[in-house]
Amino acid sequence: MICKLCDQTKALIKAHCIPKAFFVTLKDDVKEPLLIVKKGDKHTKRSQIGVYDKKILCSECEKVFQEWDDYGQKILIKERGKAQKLMVGSFPVLKFENVDYAKLKMFVISVFWRAGISNEPYYEKITLGPFEQKLRNMIKNADPGEPEDFSFLLFCLKETNPKVAVSPQFAVYDRVNYVVFFLDKYILRIKSDSRSSPRCFQHLTFQPGDDLYVPQRDLFREINKKEVVKMVKSTTGQGL
Ligand SMILES: [Zn+2]
Repeated sequence: MICKLCDQTKALIKAHCIPKAFFVTLKDDVKEPLLIVKKGDKHTKRSQIGVYDKKILCSECEKVFQEWDDYGQKILIKERGKAQKLMVGSFPVLKFENVDYAKLKMFVISVFWRAGISNEPYYEKITLGPFEQKLRNMIKNADPGEPEDFSFLLFCLKETNPKVAVSPQFAVYDRVNYVVFFLDKYILRIKSDSRSSPRCFQHLTFQPGDDLYVPQRDLFREINKKEVVKMVKSTTGQGL
């Protein structure tokens, strides 16, 4: 089969679009995280290893992503406890210092591109359209691009949010297109639009040389609670 990064005919491996570690901590004490695709869907299931795709990458190309995947996990999962906990007004915010913009941006771009080219139902709402080639070139050249290219912002979830892994969604904020990923205890919004970030997002969009500010947000302000409850019930027969 043809690898989607190098375009060569090779044996393809089980590639993760979102590194496995971003699903693992969603486990509750006894069960694997519940992957939510859409309501009443047979693809809504429990999975111990997250979502992988056997039709996108060869083993050499998979290695290209390792450093960025590791860096995303290091900052967002392993070192989350080191982030300063601030209150901005009455809103809790995490502040991460000394974050390497280029590496974190490459992690974000990699997740977006891999999810966009995957045919797994979990990623079905993510389409790249005119951005596919640009993202692929950025990956091939390890080029994080301009700050406005696929700019992103992060929110963290409260610990009390349900242990479900909701599939990535498409969203429009102030007429600008975004894709929204739910990664572990984070919400990641990536701009999928050549227009500038909406003004209301500009102070939160991560910029080179800045500290990374990650406000806390309730999962159910990002997605509809009733829908999630329905999806969980259709799979587990239980509520949240
Ligand atoms: Zn390849």
